[in-house]
Amino acid sequence: MLRTPDELERTLGRIDGRGYRAYKDIQGSYDFPGFTLHIDHVQGDPFAAPSRVRIVVAQDRAGFPTAVRDTPERNRALCHFLTMAVARACDDASRRSGSGKSGLVTVDRAGQEVLERTSVNVDGQAVEARITVGLPAAGRRILGRQAAAILLDLMPRVARDALVASSLDAAALERHVRTVEDQTVLRDSLRGQGIVAFVGEGSILPRRSGVDPRPMGKGAVPFESPESLRRSFDLPGAGSVTGMGVPEGITLIVGGGYHGKSTLLAAIELGVYDHAPDDGREMVATVPDAVKIRAEDGRSVQGVDISPFITNLPFGADTASFSTEDASGSTSQAANIAEALECGTSLLLIDEDTSATNFMIRDHRMQELVAKDKEPITPFIDKVRQLHDERGVSTIVVVGGVGDYFDVADTVVMMDSYRPVDVTDQARAIAAKYAAERAREGGETFGRVSARAPVPGSLDPRRGKRPEKVDAKGISTILFGRTTLDLSGLEQLVSVSQTRAIGDSLVLMMKRFMDGKTTVAELLDLLERQFDENGLDALSPRKLGSYARPRRQEVAAALNRLRTLRIGQVG
Ligand code: ADP
Ligand code: MG
Repeated sequence: MLRTPDELERTLGRIDGRGYRAYKDIQGSYDFPGFTLHIDHVQGDPFAAPSRVRIVVAQDRAGFPTAVRDTPERNRALCHFLTMAVARACDDASRRSGSGKSGLVTVDRAGQEVLERTSVNVDGQAVEARITVGLPAAGRRILGRQAAAILLDLMPRVARDALVASSLDAAALERHVRTVEDQTVLRDSLRGQGIVAFVGEGSILPRRSGVDPRPMGKGAVPFESPESLRRSFDLPGAGSVTGMGVPEGITLIVGGGYHGKSTLLAAIELGVYDHAPDDGREMVATVPDAVKIRAEDGRSVQGVDISPFITNLPFGADTASFSTEDASGSTSQAANIAEALECGTSLLLIDEDTSATNFMIRDHRMQELVAKDKEPITPFIDKVRQLHDERGVSTIVVVGGVGDYFDVADTVVMMDSYRPVDVTDQARAIAAKYAAERAREGGETFGRVSARAPVPGSLDPRRGKRPEKVDAKGISTILFGRTTLDLSGLEQLVSVSQTRAIGDSLVLMMKRFMDGKTTVAELLDLLERQFDENGLDALSPRKLGSYARPRRQEVAAALNRLRTLRIGQVG
């Protein structure tokens, strides 16, 4: 039953000054001129998680043309754009005053990556914004007038200023939608041209700082592609776009320290996502399943087949089903690769800076001193070729120090004062000169990739009396029941809303799909199908506005880092 705004006003007048619990009386739906306000959840006290409201504007009033919402990409771009508009409308008015979260009005933060999210939803019928409100209180007494200012004044303003097409900058919206659509088309076209990543001419790759993801301002050297790697694409919005194509196979990014190698790789890592206009990386696209691989010592590993890289560990530890609570640099990096292959990837991204040296290389001097049968590790350099030839998995690796990789490279790009130069021929000539030195240790084939089936009981989201207590604490930590899940090694996670969705995805997979026989890859297929069919609301019936869609690669990575995880059947 829809109530009227007058009723809401009267209720707020009546409960003004009373104990906080009386706020429960305002829960319900209200029929405002031009929109419906749903007060879905009222917080129990001023310090609890804020109350949740939704503003729903019918499409015949909102008036977003089908052209900006009729494909999944356009819809995603529109929702991102509207989320920013809602945030602006709330920020202008949000005044924190009183106790706890009193007066705070927020919408989920839409960052520079344009992710599928639940903060704003648009379809042919309506536009919906999901907002959280800290219902105002002094101590624990209700501040009815302040609540009225939010619910009766601010909400109508948000509805009018942020959710109606005619109030918004139509040109900016169109640019937003086109930019996203172009990136989707670009990413889908990579394989057809035999490339795994593309960096458009003029892209601004460096960021302002390690903690500020906005593009570097003055002093940034725009990207310029070397002639020999230049590729062009025809995009629906931007027309013809030119830039550097990174071919399938094995590509090295070399160059002196501080010449921009890691910055280029970081841009490629995030090229799995679409970027908002003015990010500087709108024309950087990478195959969507690319995975950054790094050493991550201390992580937990459960039942992973790392035998392609590591065999004959001291004391006979089983590396075909390897488990440890405290992986070393090399075993963690091997496990990261094995797990990425298990969940599905066609491109590995590796930076020497964050790798274990003994995982990357055994040079010929070391080969001479330490016999192969005394060294458990087969270095990545001796498996990278097999990975591509047998499994179609390409690799881009940043190397500053280890020239041995010239032996296995298809393409070598040198960063020289932030400008890429194709040095493939020189690198080949050098490799030929020293070809006899280093013995190949990798054998003919890559080796096994495991298919593990998690045991559902090994995931335990309970905490105290609560059947489920799963929460994101910042972008790289999930509290999962009584365990803490550390995701700081996942460099392609970009939003805490993804982290939140990952935590709840683990619960969903555990409850609905895990049976001790279903493999990790199958679980992820089932999860993605839920997302495709039901959206992110598949994760919760509570209409939360705080989810953003994670990739399956990051969901798998979280599952794999759960310290309680146990593996049943191995496929
Ligand atoms: P490398 O990995 O080769 O040592 P980095 O990628 O870490 O180098 O870059 C070194 C520094 O140069 C960083 O502070 C980075 O922000 C800056 N930088 C990278 N690319 C550019 C560029 N195109 N223009 C200006 N500065 C850049
Ligand atoms: Mg570097």
